[in-house]
Formats: sequence, C-alpha cells, structure tokens
Amino acid sequence: MDIKIVRNENPKVKPEASTLGFGKYFTDHMFIMDYTAGEGWHDARIVPFGKYEIHPASTALHYGSEIFEGLKAYRKADGSVQLFRPMENIRRMNRSAERLCLPTIPEDMALEILETFVGFEKDWTPSAEGTSLYIRPFMFGNDETLGVHAVHHATFMIILSPVGSYYAEGINPVKIMIEDTDVRAVRGGTGEAKCGGNYAASNRAGEKAAQQGYSQVLWLDGVERKYIEEVGAMNVMFKIAGEIVTPALVGSILPGITRKSCLELLRKEGYKVSERLLSIDELQAAMQNGTLEEAWGCGTAAVISPIGELAYKGKKYTVCGGKIGEITQHLYDTITGIQWGKREDTFGWTYPLK
Ligand SMILES: *Cc1c(COP(=O)(O)O)cnc(C)c1O
Repeated sequence: MDIKIVRNENPKVKPEASTLGFGKYFTDHMFIMDYTAGEGWHDARIVPFGKYEIHPASTALHYGSEIFEGLKAYRKADGSVQLFRPMENIRRMNRSAERLCLPTIPEDMALEILETFVGFEKDWTPSAEGTSLYIRPFMFGNDETLGVHAVHHATFMIILSPVGSYYAEGINPVKIMIEDTDVRAVRGGTGEAKCGGNYAASNRAGEKAAQQGYSQVLWLDGVERKYIEEVGAMNVMFKIAGEIVTPALVGSILPGITRKSCLELLRKEGYKVSERLLSIDELQAAMQNGTLEEAWGCGTAAVISPIGELAYKGKKYTVCGGKIGEITQHLYDTITGIQWGKREDTFGWTYPLK
C-alpha cells in the first residue's frame, strides 16, 4: 500500500528512561488514514506529531463513536524490536469496529500499517529495563453533521508513546474495591468492544475507590451485580483451592490478549484452569475460609498486577498475605520474559520488526 511520509523537521530530544511514566511523551510522527463510505480507506500518511483539527460536529465528539487498541513494542538485548501478538489486536479492533458500526481494516493492511509506522519510529523504543514503546491505534466516526446515522467518514490514527517500567518500585500488590453500585457494561452492550465510552462509564467508581485508598475497582455484572467481571481495565484471575478461575467471556467482558496468553500458558503447563461464572458469594466464601490463594489482574500495561487486598461492602480481606503469589509471579516472569526476548518464545507470540 501507499503510505505518504512527511518528515518532522524538528525532531524532539528523547526523554530519559526514568522520567517516562505512562502516555506522557509522544514520538515525532503520527499515522493517519481516512475512510469514506463507497471509497474505502484512503490517504494513508505518516506526518509530524501534533494537534489535529476536528469539525465541531464530528460524530466522535457527540455520539462516542470511538474505539482503540493498546499494544507494545519491546527492545531486546540485541537491540532489535519486537511486537507481542499484533494480529490479536488487529482482529479485536475489527470486532470492536463492527460493534460500533465503524469500518473495519483488512487484516493484512492493518499489519502493514503497524509494521511500517512502528518500524519508522523504532528508534523511540526505549531500552532500559521494563520500558517499552506503547502503541495506541484508534478510530473514530468523523461525519461533519449532527444527524445520527451509520458512519460515512471515519479516521484511523496511531500514536506512539515511550513508557516507563510499570513496576519501577518493584511489584507491589494492589488494593481493590468491589463496586456494588455502578457497572461497567452489560451483555448486549459494548463491554466486549474496546471503546472509549466504556472508560467514561467507569470513571465515577474509579474516583470513589481512589478517594478511599483503593487503586482499582472490581466490577460485578450489570444485571444481578453478582458475578465477577473485570478489575479496572484489566481482566482478573483467582486461584481458589488449587483451581485457576477467570470469568468466562459472556459478552460484557473485554477479551484481553494478556488473559488469553495466561490461559494458554497455564493450560500448556498442565494447571487446572476454568473459564466460568464466579459469583461474589463464592469469592467471599473463599476469602473467609482461606481457600482464595492468589488473585491478579492482567492487561498490556501492567502485564500482571497482583491483588493484595479486596474490600466488599465495608469488609476487607487480605489476599495471599498481601504478597505476590507463586502463580502470579510465574506468569509475570514468563510473559514479560517472552515480550522482552529474555525467554524462548515457544508459542510464536512475538513478531520481530524489520
Ligand atoms: C484493554 C483492556 C483489557 C486488557 O486487554 P489486553 O489485551 O490484555 O491489554 C481488559 N479490560 C479492559 C476493559 C480493557 O480495556
């Protein structure tokens, strides 16, 4: 495909690894491509990173037609750069697009764009321990009218942000508040699509949890507020009496690629793994009788985030003595080992950039 390149004549000085944080710095360029119904995708271009003009009536601003993805490029010890399961992100983005009536991007085209653009900005991939280049593809409806109808114009962009080590101060288990009022998503809604609107709906509970000293909320299902769904913007897993349990993908849960990788890894290693309904009553009983052995969240940003405390209706429960559990540590070491090329990738998950 034809990707026009306009070089940034004023490249920035790359930030120090210690100051990176998450999503604060951006590379010198961004990728943009437009869609017009009847014409398809057109005008693929790499241009200097900067402000983007948008019509005040743009669909995205009024009706929330927006989806996104998140993946990372990792620098290996030999200096080369690799992606982790990029086709999974591409396929998920297309499923999200279908749910929100946004146009899909042919898989081979999306992969070519990703490879070309991330390859173009590859020098921005930091090399310090635990750092990576966060890749944020996103798409929005961009019709310049207030009429509510299927999207005729859409815009697809990719921005890149060098990010610091998530665990710069070591892996500390987090405190989680089980939310019993607000819900994130319902079956039939947009919970299984990666769309901005889901995040807007989550903010209030997140704020409330933060005020009470918790770092994330654990979501219950939107119908009965009975079944465990996710934790913050991560999938969640528990080890209960030897069984590893994660909520089944019932329609309101985001199908995480880290979740999928954990399950594939654990199954290959012979662990007993179940994707099933897990009620708050079952979890509470396990917390009370001591059979809840470990709990962790999983997602691209943190990879694995151990849970050290859970609070529900005013009661607090310590998980795994407030420490990181054995399986949690094992998953973290194995998956990050594969991502940064320190461990052999027997799954074929990594995708080297040229
Ligand atoms: C992105 C996301 C996840 C994690 O997905 P990964 O592919 O593992 O990064 C989980 N839950 C929500 C709500 C998300 O948006």
